[in-house]
Amino acid sequence: MRKHIFNAGPCKLSDSLLKNTAEAILDLNGIGQSILEVSHRGKDFQAVMDETVELMKEVLSIPTGYSVLFLGGGASMQFAMIPYNFLKTKAFYVNTGTWSKKALKEAKLWGEVVEVSSEDKNYTYYPKGYDIPNDVDYVHITTNNTIRGTEIFEDLSVNAPLIADFSSDFLSRPVDVSKYAMIYGGAQKNLGPAGVTFVIIKDSLLEKVVADRKIPTMLQYGTHIDGGSMFNTPPVVNIFAVRETLKWVKSMGGVVAMEKIAKERAELLYNAIDSSNMFESPVVKEDRSRMNIVFVMKDKYKEKEADFIAFAGEKNCVGLKGHRSVGGFRASTYNASTMEDVQALVNAMKDFEAKNA
Ligand code: PMP
Repeated sequence: MRKHIFNAGPCKLSDSLLKNTAEAILDLNGIGQSILEVSHRGKDFQAVMDETVELMKEVLSIPTGYSVLFLGGGASMQFAMIPYNFLKTKAFYVNTGTWSKKALKEAKLWGEVVEVSSEDKNYTYYPKGYDIPNDVDYVHITTNNTIRGTEIFEDLSVNAPLIADFSSDFLSRPVDVSKYAMIYGGAQKNLGPAGVTFVIIKDSLLEKVVADRKIPTMLQYGTHIDGGSMFNTPPVVNIFAVRETLKWVKSMGGVVAMEKIAKERAELLYNAIDSSNMFESPVVKEDRSRMNIVFVMKDKYKEKEADFIAFAGEKNCVGLKGHRSVGGFRASTYNASTMEDVQALVNAMKDFEAKNA
């Protein structure tokens, strides 16, 4: 029996991805070779790569003038590559927690960073209504804070190239890609297994690469655009699995359907939290993430947190422990998670409360 998986990433993936990737590992399209054995430059893998890029463009309605890349190094490598390529003097970073902080730490190696932050309230809200200086090289945001459970649902209009870490809410809603100069993230939440990084980059952003800086070849975006993500050997199985996710998202009704289901899942769980006498959400209502639902036990029940994790585990709900920096619980409800998964968790919460409150 498949468990109710609430892991934050790697996380639950679609059944069709698991089945089709497993089959391709044994035999790719009946050619008598595994996806693990074919050349990445041969026609069989090239077809996988081309279809994956085309599906990304289709599913996310990416306008012309953008390239879709699949790279190594995780979103964390992008934290460094972005300022290395584009930070000449000053950049603007919206700091919503751990991941934004890691991104802006790298930026500080290359120039001045102007920051707006929700640290004053322990990252329990998403910053809004700030001014951006008009001389910044770019603006960097993290659309969903995987650890604290805050999310922005709007595509901002800003006066500089907008670069967004979409690691943990990619494909969970329609996005106006034209508002962004670059969208990137690790695949290991809504897109596929860990090991590949997606980058959607506006080709004209390359005009903003800092002219007099010596950047290693592998760390230049132009290298990967020119090489069709094949400058070096790409993570072939991961890209195959990403293609399976994109096919699945499309078959389910695309990002519009993903958003509808995400809202339903989140509503079910947040309603259970808000109506409980035992659990509570630390996040302000309007900024609550649909992907990472963070909750804690009210003070008088705090010592029962470990018991609840064990109790939920007996009901097949796994991956609920909050991030080590926050404590409490985090239910990650990414695209592949179902209403049945969330209902099982809500039932576990209600049963536990009935027994222990
Ligand atoms: N950004 C966000 C929002 C994340 O959630 C994560 C990983 N959980 C990262 C960046 C880092 O990604 P990676 O491990 O792929 O470097």
